[in-house]
Amino acid sequence: LPVWRGKIPTDPVGALGWVGPDNKSLLDAREPPVFLGQDARTSYFAQDISPWSPDPNGPAISAGFLDNSAQHHPYLAADQMFQDLRSSMLLLSPRDAELAATAKAILQWHSTHGFCSACGHKSDLRNAGWQRVCPACTASHFPRTDPVVIMLVTHGNRLLLGRSAMWPQGMYSLLAGFVEPGEPIEAAVRREVLEETGIKTAEVRYLASQPWPFPNSLMFGCIAEATTDQITLDPAELEDAVWVTREELVTVFAGEHPFIKQGRNGAIAHFLMTNWLADRLD
Ligand SMILES: [Zn+2]
Repeated sequence: LPVWRGKIPTDPVGALGWVGPDNKSLLDAREPPVFLGQDARTSYFAQDISPWSPDPNGPAISAGFLDNSAQHHPYLAADQMFQDLRSSMLLLSPRDAELAATAKAILQWHSTHGFCSACGHKSDLRNAGWQRVCPACTASHFPRTDPVVIMLVTHGNRLLLGRSAMWPQGMYSLLAGFVEPGEPIEAAVRREVLEETGIKTAEVRYLASQPWPFPNSLMFGCIAEATTDQITLDPAELEDAVWVTREELVTVFAGEHPFIKQGRNGAIAHFLMTNWLADRLD
């Protein structure tokens, strides 16, 4: 699976753009392929071909929140386009989504960890891409995954939603934040909610998880019960936060809310909100 600048080749019905090992698109790779897995007949690998340059006269690559551009490589099938996985993931089968997320996350890790973090020497890819080793000091480095908590914060019939100033207009979502060193998941949920909104929470329960390779997160979906409801925003983190009732969330999902736009399906936030709305979390 050639991967170009974090984008995965996908056709209009969600088939991944697999190529054979001698496909000429792979000639632009600077490092060996990374092993993804195997089934009865085939072993699957991903390889980073980011040095390739698409047609300079082609569409510009947008640098916004979501990259809506698509690029075609001349050595891939005619209907295969490099696309942002956020756009294409809903088309993929569960297995292909897992392979694509794995490929994107691990190649992103290689692209930013080419030098030993202990001594600074250039490191080498080992174990089919699941390790890097430093030839100077022999230190081993392993692919990194960053834990993130994302939470339904509820107060009776209401759910807490927030928005970052960088997000597209009208986008609100669940609060989220990185787990810090030495911190249990439950404490990370309580700390993030308190820091960002001043809301105190009591019981926290884990619900579900989702790998989120933008670039290497693992999202831990939780539910937390608020014991206070007075919002005090941290303007460095959030531009706005609001309580919405189940009835209001129905209007959001129907595209009829006065200022909150419907979130993109496919992300765990949408999954958690849908299940809270349907009262399916107990
Ligand atoms: Zn080293």
